[in-house]
Amino acid sequence: MYAAVLHGVRDLRLEEVPDPKPSADEALIRVNATGICGTDIHIFRGEWRTSTPIILGHEFSGIIVEVGRDVRDLSVGDPVVVEPNITCGSCYFCRMSERNYFCENLEAIGVTINGAFAEYVKARESNIYRIPRDFNLDEAALIEPLACCVRGIDQAGIRAGDTVAIVGAGPVGLILLQLAKQAGATMIIQTDREDARLKLASRLGADHVVNIEDEDPVETIRELTGGYGVDVAIEAVGSPEAITQAMKSTRRGGRLLIFGVSPQEAVWKVKPFELYDKELTIMTSYRSPFTFQRAVKIAVSRRVRLKPLISHIFKLKEIHRAFEVAEKRLEGAIKVLVKPEKD
Ligand SMILES: [Zn+2]
Ligand SMILES: [Zn+2]
Repeated sequence: MYAAVLHGVRDLRLEEVPDPKPSADEALIRVNATGICGTDIHIFRGEWRTSTPIILGHEFSGIIVEVGRDVRDLSVGDPVVVEPNITCGSCYFCRMSERNYFCENLEAIGVTINGAFAEYVKARESNIYRIPRDFNLDEAALIEPLACCVRGIDQAGIRAGDTVAIVGAGPVGLILLQLAKQAGATMIIQTDREDARLKLASRLGADHVVNIEDEDPVETIRELTGGYGVDVAIEAVGSPEAITQAMKSTRRGGRLLIFGVSPQEAVWKVKPFELYDKELTIMTSYRSPFTFQRAVKIAVSRRVRLKPLISHIFKLKEIHRAFEVAEKRLEGAIKVLVKPEKD
């Protein structure tokens, strides 16, 4: 098959590689579309270490083309999405009742094992979720980031009537916005530095948008909340500066969700006294433990809209351009999809 293989930092090559062979409990999926995630960009830049060569791509949809002998509930022709994280089921963390993905033997499709910037990808049946035939398969590629956001919203503990600030209006910030609304937030303020993204945030339900290039977001949020700050602030950028902005936007006794994934070596400078003085609750969110099933239901219910987040669709042979557009956020890029069409 044809695949984009990462051989090292910024060394992405289109190559002919052997087709993946599903084992007894796995299915082979013909990839429909794969989203470029911040994680793919981090790995591509060498900000996140993984072993190479590897085929990246963990946000994808496709059609089952072959099933292993022990696969029970999936058939050839089923449209599916895949939870990329693979846990061992028997280590210390996997045996905990509190559901997490701290598995000591964790693997992830498109991160540590071959993913979906390719024509085919294989996955274990227990990681595969069937989706309705009338659900748009391109849109379905965004169910994986949605599942991560569901975990984030669970962690944030938003209550009906809360005021919420969301730092960042990229794909994840725009999903978190819609989930926060569903969770009962009555006022959501979204910030970014790009007007196009903020316009989309307004369309998807943000009550106020703030371009941080034009105004001081912390001050504006204080004005909008009677001088107090928001009950919950969510950082959805992946940078220490964004975490600081979110932290300063919360009221005393508020909650801060650090959702964005910062580069592995980034350092957050903070005055501990500020945290003490606010009695701030800080939450983080790690991957998508047991949220995939709900994410599929949310997407299918259309209570969260994913299609407006798709800004670009490239063919697999255009992967270099696709990565450039996603990395540099060219042409108003939000979610960039790659489709393995041969022509
Ligand atoms: Zn992702
Ligand atoms: Zn484990």
